[in-house]
Amino acid sequence: MKEQTYQHLPPLEHRPDGSPYRMTPAQRKRANSLIRRECCNCDNGNCLALDDGDTCVCPQMLTFSVCCKWFRWAVLPLDGTLEAEIYRDRDLKRCAECGGMFVPKSNRGKYCPDCAAGVHRRQKTESERKRRSAVDS
Ligand SMILES: [Zn+2]
Ligand SMILES: [Zn+2]
Repeated sequence: MKEQTYQHLPPLEHRPDGSPYRMTPAQRKRANSLIRRECCNCDNGNCLALDDGDTCVCPQMLTFSVCCKWFRWAVLPLDGTLEAEIYRDRDLKRCAECGGMFVPKSNRGKYCPDCAAGVHRRQKTESERKRRSAVDS
């Protein structure tokens, strides 16, 4: 079987009761047009990743539950508003740097992905500077 990259994506989140996150009909409509527009596996409503010789209709477009990892992690983030709406009840954090809302990857995450890289770089430069000045004196 050929290697499928979407299998390496993080697992789908579930509600505290174990059920998958669900979309309202309006949200699914937006999700489906997003999939048609942005999903690299979507070929006119058929999923190329699931194609095993027979065409396979994209299962994500048929259901109100978020069931496709590729959709969840590669397609949905392109519409941040929709993502936030669907995952509204999940813990969102406010970025300590820019004040924007983001979904923390871990409990300790303080910065949105955009800021995290910059903050990390700054902290590294800072600690290198301190180390150097400690050596110089
Ligand atoms: Zn898909
Ligand atoms: Zn930020």
